Amino acid sequence: MFDKVLIANRGEVALRIHRACKEMGIQTVAVHSTADEDAMHVRLADESVCIGPPAARQSYLNVPAIVSAAVIANADAIHPGYGFLSEDDKFASIVEEHGLCFIGPSADHIAMMGDKIAAKRAMIALGVPAVPGSDGPVSEDAEAARIAGEIGYPVLIKAAGGGGGRGMKVAETEADLPSALAMARSEAKAAFRDDSVYIEKYLHGPRHIEVQILADGEGNVVHLGERDCSLQRRHQKVLEEAGSPALNDDRRDEIGRIACAAIERLGYRNAGTLEFLYEDGEFYFIEMNTRLQVEHPVTEAITGIDIVREQIRIAAGMPLGFRQDDVVFSGHAIECRINAESSETFAPSPGRITDYHPPGGLGVRVDSGLYAGYSVPPNYDSLIAKLIVHGATRNECLMRLRRALQECVIEGIETTLALHDRIISHADFINGDYDIKWLEALVGEAG
Ligand code: ADP
Repeated sequence: MFDKVLIANRGEVALRIHRACKEMGIQTVAVHSTADEDAMHVRLADESVCIGPPAARQSYLNVPAIVSAAVIANADAIHPGYGFLSEDDKFASIVEEHGLCFIGPSADHIAMMGDKIAAKRAMIALGVPAVPGSDGPVSEDAEAARIAGEIGYPVLIKAAGGGGGRGMKVAETEADLPSALAMARSEAKAAFRDDSVYIEKYLHGPRHIEVQILADGEGNVVHLGERDCSLQRRHQKVLEEAGSPALNDDRRDEIGRIACAAIERLGYRNAGTLEFLYEDGEFYFIEMNTRLQVEHPVTEAITGIDIVREQIRIAAGMPLGFRQDDVVFSGHAIECRINAESSETFAPSPGRITDYHPPGGLGVRVDSGLYAGYSVPPNYDSLIAKLIVHGATRNECLMRLRRALQECVIEGIETTLALHDRIISHADFINGDYDIKWLEALVGEAG
């Protein structure tokens, strides 16, 4: 097992990884920008290294600075968390070339899944159902029109290098197609330096359901059930639950089996998530994330399995210590992503936290680096806390979440706490009756 792990991230996920390491007897090295000198993960880590100025490009994305910090601190391994360098196959290779272990899958698997066209092709070849669409990049408008005509409008133009909902444009009719293609290409080029796009059927009102898998590369592959991440704004997840109100045990087993079989044949190693859209009882693969997900705690709550610990064990060459039959799903869990932004306008609201009181009690978990007096810097993602609630049933979970939200105090900045209160009080949410478009309709942004 590793003696020392460098955490190449910030905020709540840096703290999350620190906690798993400490419980495994592993020393931690935090890296931070000058904007994060007072961050909780820096305070708690055994060692910390400043790697650059606030701009992420010069700090959390600064590969030479991060690898140098790991070498100088004599770390054995680097955990990338999510975002930043977590899905950068070149970073994974460089880490390994320096004699360090990258806590994640192989660079080849990261590269394959990072190209969404290659990922979809690979999954289809492995028997995973996917959204109908072009079977490769589409460069000519005439070719796009022919493919869109075949699959039927509306269609969605997506960037091969996509992520965070960027480079995605809907064409309702053939007349919209040229401008949608042009916009998707230029957005993709600006965001991912790659303007290749592909076409998918635009589903009317699917749910987003994803399957968490763990694989040790020795033929042991398990799934930890699904998460329903349909509550989204601008293709970004806002609230997630496990299990999905739309699935029963049979459907869960079925999609879990399909995912595990594909992952086993790929020879994939470490944690991963297969994302699907689910409509009219059918699953359609959209992408695979080769990293820890923000919403992993809901899965931990219903399985009792520490996913970060398993990532570290697998990276250290240890086999999975359990089989599929050992995974027992218990109760229901919901996560609310609390962002430093207005619940009404969604304008970012960085600044000083004047008062902070996280909720507690049975079945309540808060993953956050907040404390009173801390200043949320304006330079990074607005996620400041995750509230995760577990209950024996979905109803118990909802009642507990309601009271936990009422207990939660974050003063000095605006947050999305009020938005969560609004969501969970709505009859549709209480009934589990929502799809990926529901939230935007609720907040008046349907479009
Ligand atoms: P990204 O990598 O940018 O997050 P994804 O492929 O994961 O892109 O899609 C993000 C979200 O966009 C999905 O959760 C879903 O809400 C929506 N979406 C993606 N593909 C489709 C589709 N074919 N039809 C309808 N909605 C889609």
